[in-house]
Amino acid sequence: MPTRRTWRHTGVRLSLLALALLLLGEPGAGASASPDSRWIVLFEAPSTHVLHELADNAAFDVRWVESDLVVAEVEQRDLLHPLWGGRVVARRRLDQQLALLHARNLEELRAHAGASKALSTLHAARVAAARAASGEVWILLASPGAWPAEVLGCHGGLVLPKHDVDPRSLIERAPPAALLPWLLAPSRAWTPGEQRLLQAVAPESLAATLDQLTKNTLALDADRHVFSADLGGLYNPRVEEKMQRFVQGIGPPDSLVKRQEFIKTRRCSGAIDTTSTYNVIARLPGSVPGTGTFVVCGHIDATGSNDADWVRARDECRTLSATPGAEDNATGVAALVEGLRCIADGVRRGDVDFAFDLEFVAFSGEEAEGIEGPLTGSEHYVQQRLAAGTKLLGAINLDMVGSDSLGNNLQVVYNPASRWMAEWLVDAASSMDPPIDLTFTPQLDETLASDHNSFWMVNSPALLWADAPVNVLREYASYHRPGDVGLDVSVAKMAEVTRTLLAALLRFNTRAHTEPEILLPAEGVEMFLEIQGAKISYDRRFSRVWPGSPLTALASIYGLGAAYGGPLHVEIWIENSSGRRTVFDCVDDDCYALGGAPRPFPTGGRLDLGVDPIPIQAQDGGTNRLLARVTYERAPGEEVVQTVVDTFVVAEQVGLPVLVRPNPVRDPSSAEIAVQLERPGEVRVEVYNLEGELVATQMQRVQPFFQAQSKIVTLPILASSSAAPQMTSGTYFVRVRWQGPGGQEEAVTSRLVVIR
Ligand SMILES: [Zn+2]
Repeated sequence: MPTRRTWRHTGVRLSLLALALLLLGEPGAGASASPDSRWIVLFEAPSTHVLHELADNAAFDVRWVESDLVVAEVEQRDLLHPLWGGRVVARRRLDQQLALLHARNLEELRAHAGASKALSTLHAARVAAARAASGEVWILLASPGAWPAEVLGCHGGLVLPKHDVDPRSLIERAPPAALLPWLLAPSRAWTPGEQRLLQAVAPESLAATLDQLTKNTLALDADRHVFSADLGGLYNPRVEEKMQRFVQGIGPPDSLVKRQEFIKTRRCSGAIDTTSTYNVIARLPGSVPGTGTFVVCGHIDATGSNDADWVRARDECRTLSATPGAEDNATGVAALVEGLRCIADGVRRGDVDFAFDLEFVAFSGEEAEGIEGPLTGSEHYVQQRLAAGTKLLGAINLDMVGSDSLGNNLQVVYNPASRWMAEWLVDAASSMDPPIDLTFTPQLDETLASDHNSFWMVNSPALLWADAPVNVLREYASYHRPGDVGLDVSVAKMAEVTRTLLAALLRFNTRAHTEPEILLPAEGVEMFLEIQGAKISYDRRFSRVWPGSPLTALASIYGLGAAYGGPLHVEIWIENSSGRRTVFDCVDDDCYALGGAPRPFPTGGRLDLGVDPIPIQAQDGGTNRLLARVTYERAPGEEVVQTVVDTFVVAEQVGLPVLVRPNPVRDPSSAEIAVQLERPGEVRVEVYNLEGELVATQMQRVQPFFQAQSKIVTLPILASSSAAPQMTSGTYFVRVRWQGPGGQEEAVTSRLVVIR
C-alpha cells in the first residue's frame, strides 16, 4: 500500500527533523554532543518494565521526553526520579510519542546492535552504553512498525529487531535455589579424590577425539558438515560410542547415553530435502531426584558457508567438499567428551557425586540453515526438557575452545540472568593449583551466536566458552570454511579448558561436603503484564487509546510450578482518577483452563492469560494503570502475592496527523491533504491567507470503516478550482478539523507554500 508508506515515511522525516532542530537549538541538551556524533536509534516495542530498566541504568540520561505515558510513569514511580529531575529541556507536541534517552557510546552500540538478532537488543544497547568510552548516542524509543528503516537510515539510525526475549532474562538473577548454598559455601581444599579427577585430564585423549571428529579413515578429510550423511552415519556414532564406554558401570547398560532425534532440512535448487539427525546425550543421574539438570554441551556439526564454492555447490544440490570443522567445533566436543570421561571415572570411584543430573550433550544442527535455522538441535533439546518438567539449572556451551593463535584467553560470555555463572566460573578456576593457564574474560554479550542462546531464549542460565569474543571468532581465518582442518588447534589449551570445566563442576560435589545450611527465601511467583493494543491509535504501543477502542492485555505468570498446587487467584483491574474497575478475575482451575495450561503446572512453565478486549470508557480519560495480581500458595499456608503494573493513556484530544502535499506547490488545485483518522466523522478543510482571511473551504463526511486498513483520508485542499487563481505566491494556512459523531472535535493547522 504505497499511500500508507509515503505517509509514514514523510511523517517520520518531519518529526525527526523537528527533533533534531529541537536538540540543536537547546544548549542544555546539545552542548556535549557535536552534530556528527548525534545518532538516533530506534528500539521497537519496549514494554514499560524494559523502559524502567533502561532508565535505571546510569549510562543513560533521560534528556527529553515527549511521551505523556513516560511523564505519567515518572510521576508514579520513584525509580525514574533521580534521572528525571530537572532534565526536561523542552516539550513540544509532535504527532509521535517518543521517549528520548541519551547514552554515551556509539560504535559499540552499533556493532552490537548489528550482530544481535533475536535476543534483546534493547538490553544489548544498555550494556554497550554502560561500557562506553566515547561518543554520543541518542536513543529514540518508539513502538513497533511506526518507523521505517529507510527513514532512520537517513538519520544514521538503526532499526533494531523486535524485543522478543523472555523478559526475565534481562534482569540479573540469583542462581537457582538448588545451587545457591553450594555457591555461597566458604572455599575449601580439593579432596584427594577431586585432585585425582583434575589430574586425569589427558591431552592424548583429547587429541584422539579430535582426530576421530576431523579425520575420516576412508577419505583424507572429514565430511562432518551440517548436511552430511556422514555426520549421522559416522561421526555422531563415534561420539556416542565413546560416551557409552565412559559411563559404563554407572547405571544399567545403554541407559545413560541416548539419541534425541529431530528433523533437519536442506534447501537447494528450489526443493526442500527433509532428513533427520540427532543430539547425543550422556546423562549422569543425580543423587537427589528432582533437583534439576546441569548441561555441558558443544555442537558436533560444521559448515563451509563462508566459502563461495561450497555455498554454490550447496545451493545447486551438488556434492559438498569436506568440512572438518576442527576449531569450530571439534574442539568443544572433544573437551566435553574428555570432561565426561574424567567425571564418570570419579563417579565410579565414589570420589564425586552431584545432587542434580549432569548431562553432556553433543548438539547437532547448530549450523543448520534449512527451514529451521541455526541452533535447531539445542532448541529441540531445551523444548523437550521443559515439556518434561525438567528444571534447567545451568548450561556451559563450549564452542571454539582450542585455537592456538587466539592465545590463552577464554571468553566467558553471559547474559544478565547468567552473570552468577561467570562469577562462579572465575572463582572456581582461580582456586586451581597448579593454576590454570588461561586468562578468563567475562563478557556480557547477547549476540545470537551458538547453542547457549537456546537456553537464554527460555530464561535458563547458560555460558558460552570460546577462544575470543564472538565478533573476533567470526573473523577467524578458517571460520566456516573447508580449511578448518585443525592446523591451529592446541590440545594443551583444550586440556586447560577441560580442567576449568571440572574445577567449576566440583564446586557442587556432594562427596566433598554436605549441602551447607543456608536459609533461602521462597522462590516467588513472577508475573509480567503487557498491554497489547492492536487498535491503539496509529498502532503504536506507547500511545493513546481512544475511548471505545478495544485494548488487550497479556499477563504472563511464571514460577507456579511448586510442589503444592494450592489455590490460585488472578485478578486484573484498571485504576484511574474515577476509581478502580475489575476487568478480569479467575480462581483456580478456571485460570488454568483460560491459560490453556495443565495442572499441576509444569516447572519452568508459563501461564498466559489474555484479556481481550478491555472496554475503554469515557471516564477512563487520562492516565490509567493496568494492574494484575496473582495470589498463590506455594505450600499450605505459605501465600505468595505478586502484583505488576502497566500504564496506558486514554486520549481526550490529540492533534490530527496531517500531511499537505505537494508542498510547496505551483498549482494549488493539485494540492491535497492526507489525514489519518481513528474513527469516522466529519472532516472540514479551511484555507486561510496570512491576513487570516478564509480563501476556501470544504467538508467531507467519512463513513464508518472507511479505508479500513490505512485509516488515511485524502482530500483535495480546494473543493473547486475557482479558489485556485486567487492564491498568489506565498504562505497559506490549511486548517483541518475533525468532528466525531458524539461531538468530539480535533483540529490541526498546517502550512502550504504556493510558488507561482
Ligand atoms: Zn560453532
